[in-house]
Amino acid sequence: MAVERTLSILKPDATERNLTGKINAVIEGAGLRIIAQKRVKWDAGDAASFYAVHKARPFYNDLVTYMTSAPIVVQVLEGENAVAKYREIMGATNPENAADGTIRKLFAENIERNSVHGSDSADNAAQEIGLVFQESEIVG
Ligand code: UDP
Repeated sequence: MAVERTLSILKPDATERNLTGKINAVIEGAGLRIIAQKRVKWDAGDAASFYAVHKARPFYNDLVTYMTSAPIVVQVLEGENAVAKYREIMGATNPENAADGTIRKLFAENIERNSVHGSDSADNAAQEIGLVFQESEIVG
């Protein structure tokens, strides 16, 4: 298996409830290394460009409003099979369907306020990391 990188976001519901350390403990406990991390507050333009792929979806406007409602923590995670591994430990989009022990099962409030984002493919990971981080901010 290859060492990969993926983009993670600890979403507004996580920062608001002071859960970033608890979520990072799950990430690190699964063997993923946090090789870049910063706390930022997105404006509507930031959220719109990040979620452009969802522009036609019915939840898009609410998602942009939510993602700009409070600070977020953006991260680059590195490890064996990091893209699939992080998706696995995140759990299903809707926490009602998320497996026991996953981040969303443990912490998410609902299908929108679901605590974390993780890239869904290696190609999207590279694109999303490039959107959010300078190469100099990533220290592997
Ligand atoms: N989302 C939502 N309602 C939905 C589906 C998704 O509010 O019915 C939000 C939710 O925050 C989700 C994000 O939009 O994490 C992106 O959706 P996607 O289907 O890509 O899910 P993910 O890859 O985050 O599991």
